[in-house]
Amino acid sequence: MSNKQYKIALIKGDGIGPEIVDEAIKVLDAIASVENLEFEYDDYLMGGCAVDVFDNPLPADTISGALNSDAILFGAIGGPQYDSLPKEKRPETGLLKMRKALNVFANIRPAVIFDELTTASPLKEEVVKGVNLVVVRELTGGIYFGEPREKNESQAFNTMIYTREEIERIAKVAFEQAMKRDKKVTSVDKANVLEVSQFWREIVEEVSKNYPEVKLEHMYVDNAAMQLIRNPKQFDVILTGNIFGDILSDAASMVVGSIGLLPSASVGGKVGVYEPIHGSAPDIAGQGIANPIATIMSASMMLRDLGELSAANRIEYGIRAVLKDGYRTKDLSSFDAKEVVSTSEMGSLIAEYATK
Ligand code: NAD
Repeated sequence: MSNKQYKIALIKGDGIGPEIVDEAIKVLDAIASVENLEFEYDDYLMGGCAVDVFDNPLPADTISGALNSDAILFGAIGGPQYDSLPKEKRPETGLLKMRKALNVFANIRPAVIFDELTTASPLKEEVVKGVNLVVVRELTGGIYFGEPREKNESQAFNTMIYTREEIERIAKVAFEQAMKRDKKVTSVDKANVLEVSQFWREIVEEVSKNYPEVKLEHMYVDNAAMQLIRNPKQFDVILTGNIFGDILSDAASMVVGSIGLLPSASVGGKVGVYEPIHGSAPDIAGQGIANPIATIMSASMMLRDLGELSAANRIEYGIRAVLKDGYRTKDLSSFDAKEVVSTSEMGSLIAEYATK
């Protein structure tokens, strides 16, 4: 039987980005050999490293390379040395432009607690044990992109705008996710104050009619923030807009422990982007202590979307087994660690366990 081939665009980025993506590649290559898969990787620059080389955070070559691949594995971008650059040269501008260019309008962020790490959550064990939720965040619209926007001497403003089509398509992603899970969608907005949220609610209600099996509830964003901490187990799929999703998904990530554990997928366009939810962690870059699990989990989400379920399951099994045996990177060293390992050792262990 000939191997199935996939072309993966790698955007390693800045800070710990290259270190953690390298570990995901290690795991993918190990899996490939047992699952009859073949990965061809092409490296592209984005973020600060692209500014250093091309004076541009998103070179055209990166977009065309990404669009010509089957999937994009992305590390993280940014760093203090780029913070004073003008807006068009800042690393985050590259990231926002890339999302827009690839039309990846849906950001999917699962927050699942590993049984082995319930003590890593700052919340009580009985509150977090069994948490398994996913945040579906609209990624290419809302206040981050709305026009007009301006900052001058006397005032500054942004525009929060959503079109019917933008709400319909993201709501559909959330309901489709719910159909594969516990069939519950909590749509989060601020409809008591914002017209854009009232519109959001109406359209979500309309879309829900096509999914009669899915229970839909609406929640104000301030209450959702509280409920995530009070009783996170009540959530299955959280559907929300760009800015609320940005904030709530970080809160959800802390519910389950380290920021170094959580993956994400940005989908909706021709090619998906798979990346950890954390940033480039310049404070620990180059020290070999970053946790690569979020990126390796992102590679697993990538395989699942490519239809390689067995390979995806192997990675998830490998991660759980390594954690069960007590291996921890430094960020998790105080949570039932039997042995503290480096970034690269963690990657090697997961590769080994995943292919046993
Ligand atoms: P961050 O997520 O990079 O780091 C926050 C804290 O978590 C730091 O203490 C860091 O050491 C720790 N951390 C993050 N990832 C870790 C990992 N894998 N293992 C162990 N510890 C980890 O957020 P920040 O410090 O606010 O931002 C740093 C830079 O990253 C900024 O330039 C910011 O703009 C950028 N950023 C990029 C993205 C992205 O590329 N998608 C997302 C968020 C922030």
